[in-house]
Amino acid sequence: MYVYDTDNIFAKILRGEIPNNTVVETEHSLAFHDINPHAPVHVLVIPKGPYVTFDHFASEASDAEIIDFNRTVAKVAEMLEVTPGAGHGGYRLISNAGEAGVQEVPHLHVHIAGGHRLGRMLSPR
Ligand code: AMP
Repeated sequence: MYVYDTDNIFAKILRGEIPNNTVVETEHSLAFHDINPHAPVHVLVIPKGPYVTFDHFASEASDAEIIDFNRTVAKVAEMLEVTPGAGHGGYRLISNAGEAGVQEVPHLHVHIAGGHRLGRMLSPR
């Protein structure tokens, strides 16, 4: 159902063809700072496997990849002190999927945003 574009920018990052500002790397996941941050903390976490969206990943990835990915998201939140008990007091996870979700890069990524009080989740239309 999903066709993975091996030329997308995150695939190039994973192949080492373009640089990234890594926060943490694990066996199955990579976390790096967003190049155009929308908050004081804005990190992207991606699986190393070729998954386009969250639903694609959740249905086709191995249990090991799914566990690793989720634990990496939590680890980054702790490392950058945005968990609710830590200095910055909270964070938000966003994963855009598809055209209506305004996904720009067709490789699954979760945005971790925090570092100040965030506005409302979505603007009404
Ligand atoms: P999305 O709209 O959810 O697909 O978001 C894609 C995100 O990738 C945007 O926030 C971009 O700023 C970010 N981005 C694009 N290219 C790079 C890059 N080379 N390194 C880090 N972040 C990037």
